[in-house]
Amino acid sequence: MQPVDLRSDTVTRPTPAMRAAMAEAEVGDDVFGEDPTVNRLEAMSAERFGHEAALLVASGTQGNLLALLTHCGRGDEYICGQRAHNYRTEGGGAAALGGIQPQPVEVEADGTLDLDRVAAAIKPDDFHYARTRLLSLENTISGRVLPLDYMRAARALCDRHGLALHLDGARVFNAAVALGVEPVEIMSLFDSVSICLSKGLGCPAGTVLVGARDFIAEARRWRKVVGGGMRQVGFIAAAGIHALDHHVERLEADHANARRLADGLAHVDGIDVDHNAVRTNMVFAKVAPDRVEDFVSHCEQHQVLIRPINPNRLVTHLDIDADGIDHAVGVMRKFFDA
Ligand SMILES: *Cc1c(COP(=O)(O)O)cnc(C)c1O
Repeated sequence: MQPVDLRSDTVTRPTPAMRAAMAEAEVGDDVFGEDPTVNRLEAMSAERFGHEAALLVASGTQGNLLALLTHCGRGDEYICGQRAHNYRTEGGGAAALGGIQPQPVEVEADGTLDLDRVAAAIKPDDFHYARTRLLSLENTISGRVLPLDYMRAARALCDRHGLALHLDGARVFNAAVALGVEPVEIMSLFDSVSICLSKGLGCPAGTVLVGARDFIAEARRWRKVVGGGMRQVGFIAAAGIHALDHHVERLEADHANARRLADGLAHVDGIDVDHNAVRTNMVFAKVAPDRVEDFVSHCEQHQVLIRPINPNRLVTHLDIDADGIDHAVGVMRKFFDA
């Protein structure tokens, strides 16, 4: 059997239908603006997600970086969560390449940033301070979903203070499905959104950045600067179009599988899981620290792949079905029964 790989939703492989769409893609030189499939993906993303323009980029990291480089200049700052991906886990790119300073604020238990704290972190208009330009949110964040009302309040705050608002929407479709809203209802609240095609949507690579026409034109320039101008990339865009058409609504199945996993593990003595907290495709499971290593290798021996971290983040995706979940629960239970 194929291992049940719970390490991340980035491990999916293209489905046969996606591979067929890729193989048949019409392509051209995208740096010349001549790849018809890339142009189609960008036009369709802009239209569907309520923005003037869109840009296909290599990765989520690149999408966030281009957004930061475009919204902020040297000596500017962006406010983000202390645990935000574009603060903690993108190699400090905005600082390294843009001279842009992050201003992190604590993330609340529900994944939001307290908007009073955000407001208090905005710097006065005074040459002692960096210029605060941008608020960057993440949705979903650690599997949690920011509510629509919260995002609307963040929009209003940014409007009051003249800040731009960016969404790291690596898993924005998981958020939309969990909230039961159309993705555009979320995305139209933001000045820019970075949307990963290579997570729950199952593409081999690619992220789409959406925003206003001028913003995307400038981001396109920065994409070239960071070496992200690719040529016959319509093969990737074709996978993206296929995923946007066929793999968004099915995320509900990943969420149901995450609940199934959490419910199964709730009955295992030795695993601590808050199954009520599961909203999307992630389950956080804790085991005794001195058993982590043995637990991970037991799982691996029985075709269940997890990371050697604690609490463990178990992620459901396109390549895991309910049988795979039941197998994983059984394997994990066996470790603690033994
Ligand atoms: C994965 C991820 C990214 C970065 O995406 P890559 O394609 O791996 O560079 C950005 N933000 C969040 C929240 C992510 O989960």
